[in-house]
This record gives sequence, C-alpha cells and structure tokens, in this order.
Amino acid sequence: MVEKNHEYEIEIVSFGNSGEGIGHVDGYTLFVTGALPGETVRVVVTKTKKHYGYARLLSVIKASTDRVEPVCPVAKRCGGCELQHMSYGAQLRFKAERVKECLERLGGVKGIRMQVIGCEDEPWHYRNKAQFPVGEDRSGQAVAGFYAARSHEIIACDTCAIQQPIINEIKTIVMNTVRDTSELKHLYIRYAASTGQTMVCFVVSKQTSALDEVVDKLREKTMVTSICLNIQPDDTNVILGEEFIPVYGPLYIEDKISDICYRIAPESFYQVNSFVTGKLYEKALEYAALSGGEIVWDLYCGIGTISLFLAKKAGKVIGVEIVPQAIKNAKENARINGVHNAEFICGAAENVIDEAMSGGGHFNGMKGEDIDLSLPDVIVVDPPRKGCDEKLIDSIGRINPKRIVYVSCDPATLARDVSRLREYGYELKKVCVVDQFWQTRHVETCCLLERVRNAKDHISFTLDMEDCYRIKDAEKKKDE
Ligand code: SAH
Repeated sequence: MVEKNHEYEIEIVSFGNSGEGIGHVDGYTLFVTGALPGETVRVVVTKTKKHYGYARLLSVIKASTDRVEPVCPVAKRCGGCELQHMSYGAQLRFKAERVKECLERLGGVKGIRMQVIGCEDEPWHYRNKAQFPVGEDRSGQAVAGFYAARSHEIIACDTCAIQQPIINEIKTIVMNTVRDTSELKHLYIRYAASTGQTMVCFVVSKQTSALDEVVDKLREKTMVTSICLNIQPDDTNVILGEEFIPVYGPLYIEDKISDICYRIAPESFYQVNSFVTGKLYEKALEYAALSGGEIVWDLYCGIGTISLFLAKKAGKVIGVEIVPQAIKNAKENARINGVHNAEFICGAAENVIDEAMSGGGHFNGMKGEDIDLSLPDVIVVDPPRKGCDEKLIDSIGRINPKRIVYVSCDPATLARDVSRLREYGYELKKVCVVDQFWQTRHVETCCLLERVRNAKDHISFTLDMEDCYRIKDAEKKKDE
C-alpha cells in the first residue's frame, strides 16, 4: 500500500500529459512533476487516489541525459514552464510522442509518420503577450508575476525567460512607478516584433487616477504605441472585462506575418509566438493544396490570419469566428492587405454552418446581408482547446469537402475529432507538430484529413469506432 507522506525510490518509465514523470510502486502509479523517464528518483507521496497518486520530487539519484538546469530561478515554483528541466530536443520528442499517442489511442489511427517543426535558434524570449496578475506577496509587497502551479499565489518574476524582453521591461517600469496598485488587477501587454508596436492594457476594477503617472512615463520613455484601460469590476477568473477605454494611441497594434499585415484588437486572439506562427500557417496552406479556384472555409478564424494566407491561392475564403471584435479586425485586415476574395461571418461556427445548410447555402449576416456560403472544397478548422463542437463535425461530415486541415492546440481533442471525422469517411494523411510553446507542455499540431470514401460507406468503420469507444469507456472508468 502506497501511503501519503511516505518516501519511495522509484524508476520513472514514461511521461504524463503535462510532461510529469510516471513511475510505479508495486504496480501503483505515481505522477512526479519534474522527473524524467529513465531516471531513478526519491519522492514523497503528496496525494493518493484509488488507482494513482501524486508525489513530490525530493532528489534525482540517477539523472537522464535529457536533464538540464532550468534557466529561470523560479522555474520550480512558477506554473508557466513545465518543461524547463528538459533539453529542447527532449521537449520536442515529448510533444511528438504525445500527439502520436493521442492519435493512436483516441483517434484510432495506426502507424503515423509525422513531421516536427521546432525552434531553430534559442528557445527563449518568444512570447508576444503577457497577462501578469498584480497583487501582494506574503510580505504585503506589491508584485506582478505569475500564478504558482494550481494556486493563486503570485510568484514575482522580473525577467521571465519566455517573454519578449520588452514585455519584462515594461512590467518593471510599471511596478516601479505605480504607487497604489489597489485597483490594478492585471497588466496585459502585447508586442508586435515586426513593427515594434506595443500595447499596454491596465485591467482595473474601476477607473483610477493612480495610473496617470505611469501612463506619462510609458509615453515618454518607451516605444509603447497604445495604452488602454480594461474595466473588470467582477471578482472572477475571467481576466478581461467587456469595456476597453483607450488612453493613448489606437485600440490595436499591427504585426506582420510573412508579407501580410494584421491589425489586432486587445479582445482578439493572436498566436503568441511570432517566430513560428508563419511556419504553422505555411503548413496549413501546404495541406490545403490549393490550385486557385477553390472555395475554402476557415472556421474559428480569429482576425483572419489563416484566411488571408489561404486567400492568396484560393478562389474564395469564408472565415467564421465568434468574437465580434476579431471579425471586425478580419474585415479590416482583408482591406488593408488588398484582399478581395475573403468574407467574414461573426457567430459560433457550429451554428453558422448549421443555419447555412438548412438555408440552402445562404446565411443572413449580422446586418441582414445575404452571404452566399457556397459549399467548400476545403475546410480549415482551428478551434480552442476544447476542440470542435460535435454538431460542427456532423455538418462537416455531411458537407463532405475533399480536404480538411485541422490546426489544433490540444492533441486529445484533436484525436477525438479525428476519430469522429473517420466515421464520415476521412483518413488522416499528414501530421505536423509545430512547436509554438517552447519550455511549456502545450502542443500545436497541423493535420491533413482527406476524404477517402463517402460518408454513406462508413458502416465499414464500425469496428474501429467500437474499439475507440471501448478505450474511451475504459478511460472513463479509470478516472472515476
Ligand atoms: N485561426 C486563428 C484563431 C485560432 S484561436 C489564428 O490562428 O489566429 C481559436 C479562435 O476560435 C478564437 O479566435 C476564438 O475566439 C474562436 N472561437 C471559439 N469558439 C468558437 C466557436 N464556437 N465558433 C467560432 N469561433 C470560435
């Protein structure tokens, strides 16, 4: 019997989903953050469940050759970088393995070959966006930093090793200047490396004059091009409130990926690693294999980033996105880049497509305009971590496009959706892991699915699907 607070010496045999090490004591599974496969470690058990438990790493008795000393002094306490103790090569192997394992186990796909695109230089200082919580440390000192893993304790971090340096510098100026931080909840900063434009957004519980001095300082002393307030009166986990108040400059910054310029409002999603985002979009474009006349839908399109890449080679692109501000940006972005073959619709992708299908391919836009949603040759989806809505997968299956390009930031939901699309006659043809999140457990994947048979033939897949569900059931039981 493995007991809480007891110490054990164990061999780490594999990785868990978040990069933690997995080892066993008499067949009982222990998850150990910071331990690597191949290592012998001493641990103390911190939590036990029926079939598995968690343990804290006390010492490494035999180290893996993949182990490196974390660069950041607070790496062990801060919840941001789960993989700093791994060499970058090992991080890439972990991510590729995780995608492969999910696609095989949950997606029912066998023998996957995949490409991996990683960082070619130094895997540090890449993030173009930070949302630092502001509060007090244990001694009552005002701090801005990151939440400790699974906690609301703020760990101060002056030189975060994965943020762009200018973001750290602005944070230091703000924290050294603002005397009263009682209304300041978060400091939200975005930087566009290609243009140098920077936005500083102060998330406050209510309007305050305590920030006037720092606003003047940022305007005089830095390259900040845009300053705004965001009012978040509620005490919730949602960082941003609805209202943005411009204080200086426009309520957007502009960045360039490849030769396309993107305007980004603070509410809009934008990929966080500008060094590799272009490679991800090039891969999506390659998988879409456009020859010039195709109709392409870009679902979950954000500010039209992928849409405008696709528009270069497509007949027409239709983007669908749920955040109105992002759709406004997408339309502006088409205009400022002289793209005339892209249209954008605001709404939940699953509802827009459903409505269009029942309306014979027509959709009434927000202003009542009639948008012709001609059936697509290719559909691109890039959903948030929870993956595609089931209703949307069903619609895509019935629409039956030749190719589906799936851009995913969560391998488990990707695999679930791949398994659903296989039911509709699609097969996974290409997989590319594009590492956007250096030092963290997060994984970005671009996949190509091709229609290999019509949906009505899907009966021949029953067995595979049953296998999948059996696996899912077994997993469910394990979690209970
Ligand atoms: N392809 C874009 C955005 C990807 S992020 C890019 O690379 O920049 C996922 C986007 O999906 C976000 O912009 C989010 O606002 C949007 N979204 C979330 N749920 C949605 C839904 N149900 N329908 C349409 N868009 C949705």
